[in-house]
Amino acid sequence: MKQLTVLSGKGGTGKTTVAAALVQLAGEAVIADCDVEAPNLHLLLGPRIERSYALSVSSKALIDEDLCTACGVCEEECRFGAIRELKVNPFSCEGCRLCKYLCPVGAINMVEQEGAEVFLGETPYGPMVWARLAMGEEASGKVVTQVRMEAQAISAERGLELIITDGSPGIGCPVIASVTGSNLVLMVAEPTISGRHDLERALDMSSFFNVPCLVCINKADINEQEAGKIRESCRSRGVEVAVEIPYCEDLAEAARQSRPPLEFTDESVTQLFRTLHAQVMERTGTGSVKLP
Ligand code: SF4
Ligand code: SF4
Repeated sequence: MKQLTVLSGKGGTGKTTVAAALVQLAGEAVIADCDVEAPNLHLLLGPRIERSYALSVSSKALIDEDLCTACGVCEEECRFGAIRELKVNPFSCEGCRLCKYLCPVGAINMVEQEGAEVFLGETPYGPMVWARLAMGEEASGKVVTQVRMEAQAISAERGLELIITDGSPGIGCPVIASVTGSNLVLMVAEPTISGRHDLERALDMSSFFNVPCLVCINKADINEQEAGKIRESCRSRGVEVAVEIPYCEDLAEAARQSRPPLEFTDESVTQLFRTLHAQVMERTGTGSVKLP
């Protein structure tokens, strides 16, 4: 099993479009969307949902009023100010369990929260797993791990060698959960000052976890100076820059119409994605390259 994770240091670089194009070129792969706070790969690939389930991601304290003696210990000791007048505010409760431990009469229980929904479906390009985190939930790393476990199970069941994962933007907990164990990270960068800085942070993060990276500069022609600085930054880090994708209105139109990107691109742009796909396959060591 080989795992390719598509990341970007920031949002808006076209990461999901690039991931969707690679999925279209992969022949058949397991597809995972680990951008659980704002999943949208499924919007481009249009999977048919086969199964979904709620996932518990955190627990909150609940006071049993019949047992509570109103001693006030829990309210005094909660570091998050989540207990007021013997009521727990679930939006403030961090689920640390201290109050449960301290309550002298065992009046506090921890109640599991269904904070995410996981979906399994079929696309024309292979099975897909994705999830949506409930509003206000923060335990996205746990949900990412669940999506990846489902994808790995499908890969093993169906004998599909490649998992293509669309990760979260940034370098936070869900990104780290997406990166670990990947065979290759494809970083999609845009040539802007903030895009370069965010890319550099993301490259440092991947380097820390010892995951090899390849960089694809998307919309490379919108700022040649910054594109040059990205190439230089990658060179100084020993990171290879893959084929560059110019700004392409067809890709933006595909996203607007929620369609797979290569349905809209002309042959010259499609050929660039074929080259990118071949570079990625070579770096992941994934079998022969299937061209459509
Ligand atoms: S579980 Fe922790 S955060 Fe939640 S109410 Fe109890 S002490 Fe406060
Ligand atoms: S520590 Fe237990 S008994 Fe005391 S106020 Fe809190 S819930 Fe009630």
